[in-house]
Amino acid sequence: MSTPPDTQRPVSQSCGAASMEKIVSLCKRRGFIFQSSEIYGGLNGAWDYGPLGVELKRNLKNYWWQVTVHEREDVVGMDGSILTHPAVLTASGHVEGFSDPMIDCRSCKAHLRADQLVEKKGAKQCPNCGGKDLTVPRQFNLMFETHVGAATDESSIAYLRPETAQSIFVQFKNILEVSRRKLPFGIAQIGKAFRNEINPRNFTFRSREFEQMELEYFCRAEQGMELLEYWKKERLRFYENIGISHSKLHVLTVPDDERAFYSKGTYDIEYDFPFGRQELEGVAYRTDYDLSQHQKASGKSLDYFDEETKQRFVPHVVEPSAGVDRTVLALICEAYSEDQAPDEKGKMETRLVLRFHPRMAPIKCGVFPLLKNNPQLVAKAKEIVALLRPHMLVFYDESGAIGRRYRRQDEIGTPFGITVDFETLGEKDPALGDTVTLRHRDSMKQERVAIQDLPSILREQLA
Ligand code: ATP
Repeated sequence: MSTPPDTQRPVSQSCGAASMEKIVSLCKRRGFIFQSSEIYGGLNGAWDYGPLGVELKRNLKNYWWQVTVHEREDVVGMDGSILTHPAVLTASGHVEGFSDPMIDCRSCKAHLRADQLVEKKGAKQCPNCGGKDLTVPRQFNLMFETHVGAATDESSIAYLRPETAQSIFVQFKNILEVSRRKLPFGIAQIGKAFRNEINPRNFTFRSREFEQMELEYFCRAEQGMELLEYWKKERLRFYENIGISHSKLHVLTVPDDERAFYSKGTYDIEYDFPFGRQELEGVAYRTDYDLSQHQKASGKSLDYFDEETKQRFVPHVVEPSAGVDRTVLALICEAYSEDQAPDEKGKMETRLVLRFHPRMAPIKCGVFPLLKNNPQLVAKAKEIVALLRPHMLVFYDESGAIGRRYRRQDEIGTPFGITVDFETLGEKDPALGDTVTLRHRDSMKQERVAIQDLPSILREQLA
């Protein structure tokens, strides 16, 4: 018996089938993302990543780190603390000004961000109950405050960082000294950030605890605008390299009156989520604002000495700042698709496929013995698992009809399936001994390949 055909191409593809309801349900059912503290009713704005979600997130972060730090001569990394000294966030302007205008609805008691109100016949209304009895907007600071040590007075206040960037600025001088870089050069960081969002919403898109991938790329003032363009292009290329389609990415030039006062240019890279076009990443030319603020407030020099011109100056900076969780969500939305494909009896059925780029897919390869009660097939399949495991995350599955096993992997986006059948054992044709069926998720095409070639074939496709 050889591997049953699954070679008919899927008949129709409807990549636009993603709705948030279907995505949230798939994420829970297959172990990508769960609500935090779910058994206690959930903690609003916080999410836990399950076994597949954590792999997807790691693949994203590792790829960002690879292309941003490892593959570049001009960028080094750091990992700063989450607990932040209040002086840092006072100097950066967060203590004073990191706030959103908040309005309360007196009818249903909802707290709302001012831009969430709906307008009907010229009057602002609560989006929840339609109530018009609203308070005037007041500024609500988004930072999480905590106390360090046993005392809980003014002197012990610390903050959970609202962005990873500030620790990069504060460590600029130390890192400059130890890395002995010349301008332009960058410092990269991936880590948690916290914002007490007034209304967390759209699944993980707006959370209170999330991760950022930030690069502060330091340069001379005259290089700022050019590097802003450079990083915008680099970042767009990144999204395409992880499988986000060009047509769903958009660059918004943030208008002068909406930009931070110190920024000379800001782009938002946006993605067409099922709930609308929303920001994935900001790329901003922040001038020398951050380093100058910290230099002023700390009294410590954060300047750069140019050995050629013998000049000292505070470097300018361009910052591409991306959200890990938002990008994971975009990857899932982008990958989600439903098509019609024949089952083992040839009857058409709806197939749910996550068409992840192989680089991002949580599991790279499923390995299946055709029958679980045949010790030779099982042993061969386990040998293949051992052969591939040092190179990639593989999943062994022996239960259920082979078609069902393929579908289960399609649903979580596994790009390759390997089936060990009787031909592998050389029973039909000795020439086919030690070959397996390699199935491709998207086309459902199958090819016969030698076991010994599997690591190189798969590694090439995953690169
Ligand atoms: P928004 O306007 O959507 O609130 P922002 O402009 O305040 O975002 P930045 O301060 O530029 O966001 O942060 C950089 C990136 O961090 C964002 O592009 C986004 O990907 C991510 N991010 C910011 N806030 C959140 C959040 N509450 N939940 C998840 N990711 C976030």
